[in-house]
Amino acid sequence: MIQLNNIFKWYNVGGNRSFVLKDINLHIAEGEFVSIMGPSGSGKSTLLHILGLLDEPDEGEYFFLGENVLGLKEKQRSALYKQYIGFVFQAYHLIDELTVYENIETPLIYKNLKSSERKAIVADLIDRFGIVGKKDLFPTQLSGGQQQLVGIARALATTPKLLLADEPTGNLNSKQGEEIMDLFKQLNEEDGVTIVQVTHSEKNAEYGNRIIELLDGQIVK
Ligand code: ADP
Ligand code: ADP
Repeated sequence: MIQLNNIFKWYNVGGNRSFVLKDINLHIAEGEFVSIMGPSGSGKSTLLHILGLLDEPDEGEYFFLGENVLGLKEKQRSALYKQYIGFVFQAYHLIDELTVYENIETPLIYKNLKSSERKAIVADLIDRFGIVGKKDLFPTQLSGGQQQLVGIARALATTPKLLLADEPTGNLNSKQGEEIMDLFKQLNEEDGVTIVQVTHSEKNAEYGNRIIELLDGQIVK
């Protein structure tokens, strides 16, 4: 599903290159559940954003589902993202002015689905995630765990093949975190969703089948 070859990312700081990613080579097969670990500033989020087509490296190749995705026009990149990728953020990134229902529906509107199709998909997700009673509430009326469930439901609305999560349990207590990890495991094993998550927690990392350790922009393990 994912092949990264010799990926470099840097910023120009005072005339010098400050490297964030240095010669990353990585293969992730369809159906894997991969955890990325490493200290703050080691490049985890940058790597995840590149995988999710939200950022581009300065050098290297990225083949996603066999397609060379670097240098694609914005329109093609965003079409790929909408069709195949879901992204979950640590701080949820929900839209506070929209209800739970409307937040989950948003990516389907961007995908130009008909209202009846959107309704069926959102209703299914709300049911599956056990948030039926919350669907007309706004994000600020929910607990952190519930907000993250909405964030995940929104990411899954387009039935992505690849789910990317940047510290999805970082703002949650351990019980809420465990529920989210159990859900990820289920999505991976039963629905066949490929998952790549960034996490600081060894315990959460072990939900996956492989742990990648970054240090100073390089894969060290
Ligand atoms: P992590 O997720 O492991 O904490 P990040 O990928 O967020 O690491 O960041 C890696 C490094 O890139 C950090 O040292 C950060 O300071 C640097 N960085 C990120 N964005 C910029 C930027 N716009 N300009 C300069 N340096 C940046
Ligand atoms: P969970 O463990 O399921 O995430 P919590 O124990 O944090 O839930 O919250 C329990 C209930 O309190 C939830 O049903 C939620 O609707 C409500 N709640 C939590 N935080 C807030 C808040 N900041 N404002 C309003 N209601 C909240």
